[in-house]
Amino acid sequence: MKILVINCGSSSLKYQLFDMTNETVLGKGLVERIGIEGSLLTQNVNGEKYTVEAEMKDHKAAMKHVFDALLHPEKGLISSLDEINAIGHRVLHGGEELTDSIIIDEHVKDVIKEYIKFGPLHNPANLMGIEACEALVPGKPNVAVFDTSFHQTMPASSYMYGLPYEYYEKYRIRKFGFHGTSHKYITRRTAELLNKPLDEINIITVHLGNGSSLAAVKNGKCYDTSMGLTPLEGLVMGTRCGDLDPTVLTFIMEEEGMKPHDLNQMLNKKSGFLGISGLSSDARDLENAADEGNQRAKLALDMFVNRTKRYLGGYLLELKKVDAICFAGGIGENSAEMRERLVGGLEFFGIKLDAEKNKTRSEAKISADDSKVQIWVVPTNEELMIARDTLDLVK
Ligand code: AMP
Repeated sequence: MKILVINCGSSSLKYQLFDMTNETVLGKGLVERIGIEGSLLTQNVNGEKYTVEAEMKDHKAAMKHVFDALLHPEKGLISSLDEINAIGHRVLHGGEELTDSIIIDEHVKDVIKEYIKFGPLHNPANLMGIEACEALVPGKPNVAVFDTSFHQTMPASSYMYGLPYEYYEKYRIRKFGFHGTSHKYITRRTAELLNKPLDEINIITVHLGNGSSLAAVKNGKCYDTSMGLTPLEGLVMGTRCGDLDPTVLTFIMEEEGMKPHDLNQMLNKKSGFLGISGLSSDARDLENAADEGNQRAKLALDMFVNRTKRYLGGYLLELKKVDAICFAGGIGENSAEMRERLVGGLEFFGIKLDAEKNKTRSEAKISADDSKVQIWVVPTNEELMIARDTLDLVK
């Protein structure tokens, strides 16, 4: 059983082909600069690169090149498109209606369209990827896997904002949460690692990367999460501001004469690590600069630690009993220093990081044996989670 996983961004398209008999990646690729001059497809099979430079004016044109690359007689992976059993699509926003992965039909596409209002960059691109596959390989099942769906089990006390209730009723203004496919993967994997039934584990999943979010998982289900109506809420991120007093926004709009579109750009693309440091959105760059004495790089990292700890502490209290804290994402998986800053020195609470075990970049338990809460590095695998959900729905 072969499953193709597609992740469309506004001008990019990532893909992986899985053989689900043993959950292996047969090959993967990336199309960059879709709709921009210089479109480029790079496919990687067994460490061997194959590139295609061609005009790709939209996602359909890009998808056509992906299928051609997959079918390439020497550099490809399959000899006929019939070998692909189903296609799994990462979709940003499924709103309240789509609470789990689902086979795509007209209703599903309507909901994805409706939630363009809260995912204006991603949902249109996701939809274009879906429609391109429907047109190019008609009859194949397409499955949508939403970043929001894992969080749909949150109680209203976690997801409502303290605004007049009418805005929830009128527009569905509420917290949805994102990175759900990653939090779901980490949760399932942690249940295996702890050898406990999924519906009996209480964990805090800490996904720290370019975008960052935490989830409080109670009895295997999401109870609370740090991202909100959009992926802007919560932690200070690579280029996103995270939590703010909303008055900051009305003040800046008035003082700078800023329009909503420009404000959104500033909050999403020019804030966070980049905005504070004035240097880079990349955590490694900031660590290096801070080591050389750059005070604003240090400040950005200190703020990241401060905000992450607020959520970690809050979720420990919300869950009451916690089996494990699990780190994932580029920062969470690779930076022993950041993990030490976040969960080191918490012996008072019975949480004990083992400094030696923490020197890992792969799946490992990094807490001391007598820690009341286990601490783990659980590298995430969103693509595999999408492939698994797709397989479950079509088999
Ligand atoms: P992701 O979005 O999950 O790919 O994560 C990207 C982020 O991980 C970037 O900010 C990288 O700088 C960060 N990252 C990757 N490796 C390290 C590392 N060894 N130490 C600190 N940050 C890292």
